[in-house]
Amino acid sequence: MSGAPVPQLDLVAQYETIAGEIEPAVLEVLRSGRWVLGEHVQAFEAAAARYVGVPHAIGCASGSDALLLALMALDVRPGDEVVTTAFSFFATASAITRLGARPVFADIRADDFLLDPDAVRAVITPRTRALLPVHLYGQCVDFAAFAAIAAEHRLPIVEDAAQAFGATRDGTAAGAGGDLGCFSFYPTKNLGAAGDAGLLSARDDRLAARVRRLREHGSERRYEHVEVGLNSRLDAIQAAILRVKLAHVDAWSDARAARAATYANLFRAARLDGTVALPSVRAGARHIFHQYVIRTPRRDALRDHLRARQIGCEVYYPIPLHLQQCFAELGGRPGSLPETERASREVLALPMYPELTQAQQERVVDEVASFFR
Ligand SMILES: *Cc1c(COP(=O)(O)O)cnc(C)c1O
Repeated sequence: MSGAPVPQLDLVAQYETIAGEIEPAVLEVLRSGRWVLGEHVQAFEAAAARYVGVPHAIGCASGSDALLLALMALDVRPGDEVVTTAFSFFATASAITRLGARPVFADIRADDFLLDPDAVRAVITPRTRALLPVHLYGQCVDFAAFAAIAAEHRLPIVEDAAQAFGATRDGTAAGAGGDLGCFSFYPTKNLGAAGDAGLLSARDDRLAARVRRLREHGSERRYEHVEVGLNSRLDAIQAAILRVKLAHVDAWSDARAARAATYANLFRAARLDGTVALPSVRAGARHIFHQYVIRTPRRDALRDHLRARQIGCEVYYPIPLHLQQCFAELGGRPGSLPETERASREVLALPMYPELTQAQQERVVDEVASFFR
């Protein structure tokens, strides 16, 4: 077994497999002189809409902006409440507070880290304006349960699908299970650009048109502004890169799932599956393993042990959103979201990417085993 470092993610390894396709596509954009929106963006939007299975896809500058644009398009205003999870990236909650609205955090399920529909139901009030579930680590929430809550309370659903491009559950794709889906193509995501980029998916024509207007300063005709929006456009170079990568994303997702299966076999063979909790895949779900996340109460010591042996690993996320300093005025208290807080102390993401080799995975599991021995 080699002692070579195993990175948590290797973007260059992936780039090398498709450089021959990316480089001419980028050159074509450079030579076209059409560098913002334009035909490359339209072509990517059309391909992404087809892939997700919705009539509309609207490119924007980042996943964070996609969330903000979605809530703006749904008229989320000061005093409104949006129910979401505190076990997510910061942008999930900051999109809400930037509009003066209040994130109301419901707890997650212990087994899959996803927002618990029963906990969501329990925190809905007359001020609730929208539901914002997150398809964390590449697995979709229970769409049917969320659709039932949304119908009962007449609430729109915004999906934070930033980690779940290509994931499905019971035949519904991430981004097609709510009113608006929000994607990020930050380079480390499972479908990543060479810089910042994002996208919204939409089923409704009017909502899609509103998002399009909001991403260009609330303007449909040049220099005529019907409302105040953002400047949040998708660059043509990023769109051209994403179009190339979109053709590979299913093969990459399958490769990630195969590596997840390999990890599970290796952990079982090392008799570690009772010591660390392995990811749980829901029945009917296509988990695309944006992250491969194990949990153990001895997480911090395991993380230090792996890092000392040059095994890449990360904690997503060490501080739950309700305990972030900038949200102190929301009144979040330690102990108020027990499963979220326990997960933040116990989760550890291991190396995961389509180019990860069997030998690298064996080394990761050997080092986890050496920690518990
Ligand atoms: C990455 C991410 C975002 C934000 O996307 P950016 O493109 O980095 O702005 C939002 N939510 C989740 C769950 C994410 O992982």
